[in-house]
Amino acid sequence: MATAALTASPGDTPFVGDHPAMDLLNTRAREDGVPTDTWETGTDVIRWLTRLGIAPAAGAGRVDEAELLARARDLREQARKLIVARLQGKAGNPAGLNAHLHAYLGTPSLRRDGAGGFALVRVARGDAVATLLGPVAEAVADLLAEADFSLVRQCEHPDCVLWFYDRTKSHKRRWCSMAVCGNRHKAARFRASRREGAAD
Ligand SMILES: [Zn+2]
Repeated sequence: MATAALTASPGDTPFVGDHPAMDLLNTRAREDGVPTDTWETGTDVIRWLTRLGIAPAAGAGRVDEAELLARARDLREQARKLIVARLQGKAGNPAGLNAHLHAYLGTPSLRRDGAGGFALVRVARGDAVATLLGPVAEAVADLLAEADFSLVRQCEHPDCVLWFYDRTKSHKRRWCSMAVCGNRHKAARFRASRREGAAD
């Protein structure tokens, strides 16, 4: 998308989703009504993954950044389609997401834990890109299989498209961020009430 390249601000993706699958969808957003994609290069994807705590595995081989970008965008699109379908009460086709899951190969492995015992860890065995995107694909699958979809929401501000999983106790979260959209809403309401007051 040509317009997105002009307005995207890599590294600025807000992590407001409270679930990796939501933060995945939030890498596409809207600024002043213009769709933006914070993933313009493979480096953008790596930076986003690093912020999630996902780093290339030792010995996984070189990461082809063009391939990483293409596969990350495909994963995001598969996730978006399945999540939107689910919210609309449709089943959706998991084949595309399953392709990402099936590429995420791993094997259990015993490691010395440094205290005379062992720790059971999973060691990634797939290609470098699948190893990076696998945990994200798994988070999406986990959301689809386990989450309460009444808590999967988009920010209520009409100019905002950010997603979040509402983990608040009251389950009344309405905004991606109180500091941004919540305050924009409050300010608009305040201006409206002042106008009404002046008209009286
Ligand atoms: Zn918002």
